[in-house]
Amino acid sequence: MKCFVGLGANLGDRARTLRLALRQLAAAPGVTVAQVSALYETPPWGKTDQPPFLNAAACLLTDLAPHQLLRLCQGVEQGLGRQRQEHWGPRTIDLDLLHIPGVTLRDETLTLPHPYLTRRAFVLAPLADIAAGEIISDRTVAEWLAAAEDRETIVKVAGKDWPEE
Ligand code: ATP
Ligand code: CA
Ligand code: CA
Repeated sequence: MKCFVGLGANLGDRARTLRLALRQLAAAPGVTVAQVSALYETPPWGKTDQPPFLNAAACLLTDLAPHQLLRLCQGVEQGLGRQRQEHWGPRTIDLDLLHIPGVTLRDETLTLPHPYLTRRAFVLAPLADIAAGEIISDRTVAEWLAAAEDRETIVKVAGKDWPEE
């Protein structure tokens, strides 16, 4: 199964934390990191009185079921020191499951596709690097990005090789 994951950080050494998160996901049994986007700096969304984020997206290949993958991501978040669980608040790391092709799901712990995905340029810009033609909710990622109001506020700060730096 393919799963697109969104990564974000706005506290501490943001790029380092994102690299460590990717490394830990790649080290998990049954998970391969197949593709990683460029790295973007983005203004905070929702709660705007907090530092800017670094955002990226990755494509994972995995045998894990969606909820297992969510638990893995939450474990990586905790291990990297994510503390405040304030919704839309500052965090050392945020790992969201964005989209699993062919899967629509909604329960207490997991909604797929991710509910705000089609409205967030900070998710769509990195996702378009690795999945521009992927259809989510009847439009391609590139089409959603072109329609996203805040797309001009997203700045590319490193190319696709950033995890190796
Ligand atoms: P947002 O979901 O709007 O990006 P957030 O990332 O700040 O906000 P969190 O506090 O990280 O929200 O997560 C809140 C809950 O969202 C988690 O406990 C998780 O169970 C749930 N959740 C639902 N769908 C998803 C998903 N697709 N990916 C990650 N978490 C999800
Ligand atoms: Ca999020
Ligand atoms: Ca989250």
